[in-house]
Amino acid sequence: MNLLPLPAFQDNYIWIIEDKDSSDIWAVDPGSAKVVIEYCAQHEKNLVGILITHHHNDHTGGVAKLKEQTNCLVYGPKHLKHLVTHPIKEGDEIAVFTRVFSVLETPGHTLDHLCYFSDQATPILFSGDTLFKGGCGRIMEGTPKQMLAAMEKLSALPDNTLVYCTHEYTLANYRFALSLEPDNTDLIESHLASTLLREQNKPTLPSNLDLEKKTNPFLRSHNPSLKTQAAQQLKEEVATNSVESFSQVRRAKDTFS
Ligand code: ZN
Ligand code: FE
Repeated sequence: MNLLPLPAFQDNYIWIIEDKDSSDIWAVDPGSAKVVIEYCAQHEKNLVGILITHHHNDHTGGVAKLKEQTNCLVYGPKHLKHLVTHPIKEGDEIAVFTRVFSVLETPGHTLDHLCYFSDQATPILFSGDTLFKGGCGRIMEGTPKQMLAAMEKLSALPDNTLVYCTHEYTLANYRFALSLEPDNTDLIESHLASTLLREQNKPTLPSNLDLEKKTNPFLRSHNPSLKTQAAQQLKEEVATNSVESFSQVRRAKDTFS
């Protein structure tokens, strides 16, 4: 199978999963129906399934129309009764062409947030708005404790996992990450590579977990100098427990300019 990003709105990507042996495709978080319909028309593809990570409109706005037009399967959070044909929860498995994806509940950005992980060959993660390249989603419904637990859950996946997130936020994320770790050589290198990609209008994604663990401040809030920097930016005392340290890094990003 083949994965490709369809840009939508300002900075969203709708990930398309193509089958090797047929014209069938799946779409992840189709916030726009038009983008997917035009892609299908241009490339003679047939939408057969949708994965939803969470309820926000930029991830679900196209689902109703796509379902109506194609009769496709829709997997997603169970409270989205009007949209999903298959409500899912932690540990459920979904067959997508030759792969099986398991459902990981990662509340924090929203309470309903799900990630999709497939462990065959090169592992793949659809991380929605939970984990970004160099960043994480804002805590809009959950708590810092939940978001840190989500970060730890994703960190435990294999290092070679390819990370497909839903937004092109990399360069803004790296500006903040570099303010905390100006001497992190992996970060400096990845910032340079990502800058070159954006100059050519190319996606900086997918990322991979090994790189994220070396560069993403939200997977590194235990790092002594990083958490000290975050506290300094907030003009607060350095936190003494892991949840508070994570919360300081998140709040420092929220107010970073
Ligand atoms: Zn969101
Ligand atoms: Fe989003």
